[in-house]
Amino acid sequence: MKMRRREFLKMASGGAAVLALPGCASMAGSSSGKVVIVGGGYGGATAAKYIRMWSDGRIDVTVVEPNAEFISCPMSNLVLGGSKNLEFLTVSYANLATRHGVKIVRETATAVDPDKRIVKLANGTELPYDRLILSPGIDFLWDKVPGLNNADAQAKILHAWKAGAQTVALRRQLEAMPDGGVYALSIPVAPYRCPPGPYERACQVAWYFKRAKPKSKVLILDGNGDVTSKGPLFKKAWADEYKGIVEYRANYVLTDVDVATRTAKFEVHDAVKADVLNVVPPQRAGAIARSAGVVTANDRWCDVDFLTFESVRVKNIHVLGDAIQIATGMPKSGHMANQHAKVCAAAIVALLSGQAPNPAPVLTNTCYSMITDKDSVHVSSVHQWDKEKKTLLPVQGAGGVSAAMSEVEGRYAFAWATNIWADTLA
Ligand SMILES: Cc1cc2nc3c(=O)[nH]c(=O)nc-3n(C[C@H](O)[C@H](O)[C@H](O)COP(=O)(O)OP(=O)(O)OC[C@H]3O[C@@H](n4cnc5c(N)ncnc54)[C@H](O)[C@@H]3O)c2cc1C
Repeated sequence: MKMRRREFLKMASGGAAVLALPGCASMAGSSSGKVVIVGGGYGGATAAKYIRMWSDGRIDVTVVEPNAEFISCPMSNLVLGGSKNLEFLTVSYANLATRHGVKIVRETATAVDPDKRIVKLANGTELPYDRLILSPGIDFLWDKVPGLNNADAQAKILHAWKAGAQTVALRRQLEAMPDGGVYALSIPVAPYRCPPGPYERACQVAWYFKRAKPKSKVLILDGNGDVTSKGPLFKKAWADEYKGIVEYRANYVLTDVDVATRTAKFEVHDAVKADVLNVVPPQRAGAIARSAGVVTANDRWCDVDFLTFESVRVKNIHVLGDAIQIATGMPKSGHMANQHAKVCAAAIVALLSGQAPNPAPVLTNTCYSMITDKDSVHVSSVHQWDKEKKTLLPVQGAGGVSAAMSEVEGRYAFAWATNIWADTLA
């Protein structure tokens, strides 16, 4: 199949459609080189697979990731509701290695030397690179919640904002809570990972309470002035589906937590004591981004060139996913990280073969939120390179939100999850 290079790259940035085309990889020309990727989550794992495929196996790709398996944050709120378990969210890294020839090093990256182009790992190994991709996700700003700034406190007052052990532990706290208790969820001021995620979580916990502990309450303590995503849809669900269970309070900016009494303290409002207190702390790019020197915005996020996702500050280092300073209207989502990864993968394959990257990338995003165990709502958007403004901008009139929650959208949501897990790791 013959396809002009420009057309190929255009498709490449667009999405999964390009996957199915045999022979596309041979469009990569004479690309070769070494790419190291820090983080095997939504951004990093996708970039690894696509660089291998689109370079026809010529570019050597190493992923550094401490976790033995990929555990998805998307759909993890269903574990709190009790309709799914952690196994449902867990996908092996084996295919990346056996089918795609990605080298996976189970380690943590501790430092980057951009001059020597070397990544240092916790075990002392040094990995040289031509291009480095950082997709480390988020770290928490614990200094903004002083009472939680130690490991003991963090084991008691959970975030469950990185799926895994904390997700299971929070479910246990909910199970142990007596009927008539209060589950309080503190949401940080935006930007944070997954704008609709906390509101979906409130729905899932309410779904559980409605069935198992109907006298209990879900109290949402939002640092923002209003629900930050799909507001009318969530509010309708709380008023109809979870009437008498969910209470929403805006402008509750958390200042501290008293761990012993599970009490949350706020800038303006009175303190709130809960039976289960779940704090999603404010966030910034994962620590390795700071040590690599690519954090440029508010000491929190990394500005990138959206044509390549290369750092605006440090050459040959690309940043993907939640760690970046987002463009207008762009959520910090797994779907978006997957799209960043594809634009970046195509650009690196081009650059390592001496060619120019696609000058007009288009990215898409859809975030589903499960309202019950079966019903869902969505928000979607399309983001296109704007030549004059030199950034990605939402395409007016594209995308939108659901009219109402439905079971059909619930099926789409599960299909979205299984598709993106396959796209990333199969
Ligand atoms: C409850 C919840 C629900 C969500 N629901 C959705 C949804 O429905 N749809 C959606 O699109 N998004 C959703 N998200 C958001 C999504 O999870 C994130 O946007 C996505 O994971 C970002 O991808 P990433 O690659 O930036 O980070 P991650 O996927 O978190 O990957 C980062 C990886 O880097 C590794 N790492 C970090 N530092 C190092 C280091 N120094 N060395 C080696 N490895 C390192 C970590 O171990 C991790 O595996 C949800 C998030 C949450 C919390």
